[in-house]
Amino acid sequence: MALHDQELGDAQLLRYSRHILLDELGIEAQRRILSARVLIVGAGGLGCPAALYLGASGVGRIVIADPDRIELTNLQRQILYRTSDLGRFKAEQAGAQLFELNPEVQCEPLIEHLSGERLEAEVGKADAVLDCSDNFATRHALNRACAARQKPLISGAASRFDGQITVFDFRRDDAPCYACLFPENPGVDSGPENCATMGVFAPLTGIIGTMQAAEALKCLAGLPGTLNGRLLLLEAQTMQWQSIGMERDPACPVCATRALGRPERGART
Ligand SMILES: [Zn+2]
Repeated sequence: MALHDQELGDAQLLRYSRHILLDELGIEAQRRILSARVLIVGAGGLGCPAALYLGASGVGRIVIADPDRIELTNLQRQILYRTSDLGRFKAEQAGAQLFELNPEVQCEPLIEHLSGERLEAEVGKADAVLDCSDNFATRHALNRACAARQKPLISGAASRFDGQITVFDFRRDDAPCYACLFPENPGVDSGPENCATMGVFAPLTGIIGTMQAAEALKCLAGLPGTLNGRLLLLEAQTMQWQSIGMERDPACPVCATRALGRPERGART
């Protein structure tokens, strides 16, 4: 939050002028973006475009967690990386690329699979969290951590030609959670639902990852109209979008643990 009270310099006013020109954003929202800290879990097909747009937009600190090295199969869609980067750590290379793009952004690469206390600590420090992972275990762990810390979780997924995106804005008591939508079933091993086994249409990851950046910026800037409570599904072969309303599941075990601040229906009387 170090930048919060600072005046924007001339170079910043120029760099972010196209945001500042927007009535809906303006200089105050840009300041909030500049002082924000975002956690991106997964530096793959979704994380690459999300990180690029968040970095270009001036998000003050971007923490990118990914334990993997860059492989040849990644280059079809993971647009932060070049052929000469093969074998390097994704998180480190993502940080280097973001620095080239915008040296004002402090990027913190975490070469690790975030879990347990480490995950909770990083979620606790973040103003918004992007789930750019490719497996259900991480998705549920992120959901639990964000619910406990009341942090907005921007959730994206892409497999084959099917994409989905939503926001679980845990700053709001009425927000549903990932487990309301996809209950965790430890008795069933659903296997890795990822690109290695299923394949994925390259630009689909760009579409969904870019939308995750858009939703994250809206959360950080305080803009209304996020995808909280709505799940968007994209079938990219026919480019058909579907919007599904979501509500909290009263039987959801994750929501049962949430510390809900104020009575939900108190405002009605
Ligand atoms: Zn829930």
